[in-house]
Amino acid sequence: MSENLPKISVVVPCYNEEEVLPHFLSAITGIAATMPEVNFEYIFVDDGSKDATLGVLRLFGKQHTNIRYISFSRNFGKESALLAGLETATGDYVVVMDADLQDPPELLPQMYLAVTTQDYDCIATRRVSRKGEPPIRSFFANRFYRFINKISETKMVDGARDFRLMTRKMVDAILTLKEYNRFSKGLFSWVGFNTKWIEYDNQVRVAGTTKFNFGQLLLYSMDGIAAFSVKPLALASLVGVLLCFFAFVAVIIIVVRWIFFGDPVAGWASTVTIVLFVGGIQLLCTGIMGLYLSKTYLEVKDRPIYIIKERS
Ligand code: UDP
Ligand code: MG
Repeated sequence: MSENLPKISVVVPCYNEEEVLPHFLSAITGIAATMPEVNFEYIFVDDGSKDATLGVLRLFGKQHTNIRYISFSRNFGKESALLAGLETATGDYVVVMDADLQDPPELLPQMYLAVTTQDYDCIATRRVSRKGEPPIRSFFANRFYRFINKISETKMVDGARDFRLMTRKMVDAILTLKEYNRFSKGLFSWVGFNTKWIEYDNQVRVAGTTKFNFGQLLLYSMDGIAAFSVKPLALASLVGVLLCFFAFVAVIIIVVRWIFFGDPVAGWASTVTIVLFVGGIQLLCTGIMGLYLSKTYLEVKDRPIYIIKERS
């Protein structure tokens, strides 16, 4: 490793990735070999894996001087692993990529060229297709991006991956955001800076299985909404105002009917429906408030975002 070359740090969150790690390492070092104008540093973050991931990383660390690893005391989630990796990275540029080769390392030379020759601080990637993914997952992902872009000032690109190359300036900016509820796609966008988007077709995982099931993704999307928009709270008040307005109109109609037509007692079914409807809306609004309150509670507790058990 020559001293005065620019350095790229590659940050890789790993949760139960023993099968893919050897494939990943040979792919990324193969690409690094085609870029002699830069030094590479690799930071693998073992997010409390239950398989032999840590053993594989220890071995990598012994075999290569430019590989470091961090191992968490338990599974803290990909967002926490990303933060630990970014905090540890020392490069002039930092690349974040998944271990499963769904983020093609072949794009790296092109990304590096763009960040060094054009006026960008970040070269990000997005998938233009989602082939190989269950259609229901793509459908809901698509709805989520539409919804969050409507209600949040921070714009989020549909199909955006966490796979991106950032300058030191941008990484330092991200590290100033100390929040507990970390929704990286939002944080990357929130800090600003010039971002160039590179598009590619979805890649399938080389080995192992996805770590996110549908329920987890749903919760994750709610985290994202709570972290980047307070509009649902305003929506709760708006629904309240609308219901009051309807109630007011209904009172007028009932009084007028009573004056002109008397008061036939009928319509218990509609009364029950209305009571249930209003009760439902109230619970929904309380739930929305609860979501924000719980997020605030977690932020206020100020617990560490991850705990390291072992590092090299
Ligand atoms: N990951 C992690 N902690 C977790 C879940 C996932 O560090 O709790 C890592 C995982 O090892 C992989 C990346 O995050 O490198 C993306 O996960 P995965 O490929 O399972 O997600 P998908 O691509 O299916 O959305
Ligand atoms: Mg993946």
